[in-house]
Amino acid sequence: DLILFWHRRDLRVSDSIGLAQACNTNARVIGVFCFDRAILTNDSVAPARVTYLVGCLQSLAKDYRRAGSQLLFVEGNPVVKIPLLATTLKAQAVYWHLDIEPYSQTRDESIATTLKSDGIEVHTNWDQLLHAPSEIITGNKQPYTVYTPFWRNWNSRSKPAPVEVKLPPCQLDATELTDLAQVPTIDLPTAKDLGFTWENPLKLEPGTSAAARELAEFCDRSICEYDEQRNYPALTGTSGLSAALKFGVIGIRTVWAATIEAMAQTSSDEARAGITTWQQELAWREFYQQAMYHFPSLAQGAYRDPLKHFPWQDDQNRFDAWCRGETGYPIVDAAMRQLNEIGWMHNRCRMIVASFLTKDLIINWQWGEKYFMQRLIDGDLSANNGGWQWSASSGMDPKPLRIFNPYTQAQKFDPEADYIRQWVPELKSVETNLILSGNIPPLTRHQIGYPLPIVDHSVQQRLFKDLYASVKGVA
Ligand code: FAD
Repeated sequence: DLILFWHRRDLRVSDSIGLAQACNTNARVIGVFCFDRAILTNDSVAPARVTYLVGCLQSLAKDYRRAGSQLLFVEGNPVVKIPLLATTLKAQAVYWHLDIEPYSQTRDESIATTLKSDGIEVHTNWDQLLHAPSEIITGNKQPYTVYTPFWRNWNSRSKPAPVEVKLPPCQLDATELTDLAQVPTIDLPTAKDLGFTWENPLKLEPGTSAAARELAEFCDRSICEYDEQRNYPALTGTSGLSAALKFGVIGIRTVWAATIEAMAQTSSDEARAGITTWQQELAWREFYQQAMYHFPSLAQGAYRDPLKHFPWQDDQNRFDAWCRGETGYPIVDAAMRQLNEIGWMHNRCRMIVASFLTKDLIINWQWGEKYFMQRLIDGDLSANNGGWQWSASSGMDPKPLRIFNPYTQAQKFDPEADYIRQWVPELKSVETNLILSGNIPPLTRHQIGYPLPIVDHSVQQRLFKDLYASVKGVA
């Protein structure tokens, strides 16, 4: 008997609920990954993400080989390719992990129907979350739309421990190998073969061992100081695990267990507060995933009805300046250049640039959401959409009208302008107080080749507030 385990955003052979179940059946188990053309040709795909994905697949294939088993690769439409592979290999069952994204759910339902009609079993589990989307619900059995009560409920529940997986050796026999030619399977392509180039300036090593190392280093280095350090983009105060979590290179239960261990190793209140704050970030991840699961229309537009028809001004030139990091606002430009250069941006800066795009440039947040997806190594529908809707005042937020002052933000969170100077080198020799206050004289800007501010923050803030107040039903 043969079981296919279909990997999607769970690129590992450890701490995997479905893979552990498949391996406990005594059947032979092999893995498969499908390069979905619809995803790879979508205009929201980022070269950094594809490159990281391919690296993780290389590492996953190695883990299969090490166990004496194998990972197959197919390319095309999974709705066709997964059932074709399963029937060709006469698989008894296909296992996979459930996902919250609307596209994945429609795709998976269609595949499950085909497989079942071919007499092949389908086994699915939730794996990428500590609590499945319908597990954390309000007293009225409704999904949460506010984070704080979600966190309280989520945090009060016991969390599953990492799952042990014993991947058995499994080779296809000669007949199966001959049949396989009908599918056909492919060799693992490079990112370049898929049409993407990215040099990995982030130096982020793909794969499970690298992610486990990052987690261990973060727990040694910063988790205890996370509460104080997480807002300073010039520091390495966060985990850098977002891409690994996005692709499931590390199991979420393993990550949680590391926080519990860190907690057990300290008696300091500050350290415990740091660890709790980091756990809260993991809960934000789950909050936005359950939100996308219960309210799939979030992917299409504003959660709050009044904001569905907001009079955005959508000026293309301003948008282009924002994308290039040439708005004349140093903290915004530093952040956008960081994104453009390394495919990652610090969370504080994601909030600053998102507020700037929506509240200062008065551009539809969906433009920014898409631009982020085209660049981010960790680009993820639910986290990105949640972050953008929060910043645009259109999302799940009990106090939706928030406007960041880019100068105050820079003064608070980059007080020496170290981060700004790192990413906007033309400001290297400009005095810190001029950079932070926005008072760089026009002549200096001209001499160093740094633009004048493209808008006036106080004018735009008033304009945004007026527009916001004029939207029917907003109060
Ligand atoms: P850490 O601070 O170490 O946090 C640990 C983990 O918690 C992260 O890896 C991530 O998985 C999760 N997390 C942290 N903050 C959030 C959050 N606010 N929402 C959801 N999950 C969170 N995160 C993404 O993973 N993909 C995105 O596409 C994405 N887009 C964003 C867009 C905007 C406008 C904003 C404001 C935030 C976005 N975030 C996104 C959330 C956050 O910025 C990143 O998860 C974080 O910066 C990643 O760095 P880290 O791994 O060092 O995070």
